[in-house]
Amino acid sequence: CGVIGVFGHPEAANLAYLGLYALQHRGQESAGIIAADDGKLRSHRGMGRVADIFGSKELSELPGTQAIGHVRYSTAGGSVLQNTQPVFINYRYGSFAVGHNGNLVNALELRHRLEQDGAIFHTDMDTEVIVHLLARVPGKDAGERLGAALQQVSGAYSLVCLTETRLIGVRDPMGFRPLVLGRLIDSGGFVLASETCALDLMGAEFVRDVAPGEMIIISASGIESRQALPETARRMCIFEYLYFARPDSVLDGIHVYSARKRIGHVLARLHPRDADIVVPVPDSGVAAAMGYAEASGIPFELGLIRNHYVGRTFIQPAQRGRDFGVRVKLNAQPEILKGKRVVLVDDSIVRGTTSAKIVHLVRAAGAREIHFLSSSPPTTGPCYYGIDTPDRAQLIAAQHSIDEICKMIGADSLGYLTVDALYEAVGKRELGFCDACFSGDYPIPVPTPGKGHQLH
Ligand code: 5GP
Ligand code: SF4
Ligand code: MG
Repeated sequence: CGVIGVFGHPEAANLAYLGLYALQHRGQESAGIIAADDGKLRSHRGMGRVADIFGSKELSELPGTQAIGHVRYSTAGGSVLQNTQPVFINYRYGSFAVGHNGNLVNALELRHRLEQDGAIFHTDMDTEVIVHLLARVPGKDAGERLGAALQQVSGAYSLVCLTETRLIGVRDPMGFRPLVLGRLIDSGGFVLASETCALDLMGAEFVRDVAPGEMIIISASGIESRQALPETARRMCIFEYLYFARPDSVLDGIHVYSARKRIGHVLARLHPRDADIVVPVPDSGVAAAMGYAEASGIPFELGLIRNHYVGRTFIQPAQRGRDFGVRVKLNAQPEILKGKRVVLVDDSIVRGTTSAKIVHLVRAAGAREIHFLSSSPPTTGPCYYGIDTPDRAQLIAAQHSIDEICKMIGADSLGYLTVDALYEAVGKRELGFCDACFSGDYPIPVPTPGKGHQLH
């Protein structure tokens, strides 16, 4: 998911809209904005993409100088309007809204306890647990209460919260998901955003990353920072650098595009191939493929062209033929591929089904050899901290050897990055990252294998 917060701008909802637009890659399932004006919070949420949900009419009905927004990432279940964010409640202290990126590990347990205690839940989102806790803990202001509520929560969360008078941002103690603070250049107001690419479009300058465990409270009296949660080892998600974040963002001091290119350099060293061209699977493989081409001297070519306009309402013809689902999105160019030995670079292989189809497309376009390279190490475990990887049973690298996967996807050779090489490329390993889906080293213990027990 992606989150946005704005404080101190006459058109806060419009700015939140721009921020969400820039964060659309973090979630296309639904989006919402809540703005505060004169002590009243107003909200608009909908299914689909930001630009389809918000027009000038919807935005004009969200007056106020402060707002938060959220784009929701498609998860396996619960893709319904009721589950859109920000979550908005009225409780004994007033109004409170929250947008959440991440996934709470103990949400189900907390929910059962709260339900025993009489709580009535309206959604099946883990985020709703936070507001139920908030209504039950002591504290002299919303920040204190939120801090107390979060003491009971374990997992990944970057939150933006809105009350009648405050904008609050919090990052969980391990800092799994990114969150940055920016300053609006024209009004001097503040912005919170999942990634720096949102600041650019909003006309805000980067101030700093929110620290793990830190709470930032912005009100008319200024900006305040509290260490709301005890410091633990930082475990920023390494997969943000590989796939999830936008390449033009800088997360915790690391420029994503440059990291991806360096990953390509390392891939070229680990997996040299006699090949004629380096072709990315767009868009996720582009920067790593450029890095591979740069380091190997093998020309970079766009042998696959992506259609960027594939929406969810696409009507499929009855006679679809093989690979139709992938061909809608990607077209292979025989003019580039015919007779060539191709290094094909993608960011990851998850189930292996898409990769097999892509290899088939490239082969059908005439490629003579296909050497598939993944810029991620083998994905051997699911994520419990906010990325929607499938069950272990569906992860091809959890079930099969590299040689078997190579055969299954139909490539002539297959190479993965290693975890050590990944850190060599991304740099700053000493900062502390989560790499559990590749290494099995889960920074927060997860109850049982499988994801059936989770709230979304
Ligand atoms: P597979 O071959 O495993 O079916 O698909 C691999 C493709 O899935 C890669 O191109 C990769 O970019 C993409 N991918 C990796 N992680 C995610 C994710 O979390 N969500 C989505 N939608 N695609 C992903
Ligand atoms: Fe990121 Fe993987 Fe850790 Fe999930 S398990 S937070 S995707 S590194
Ligand atoms: Mg991809």
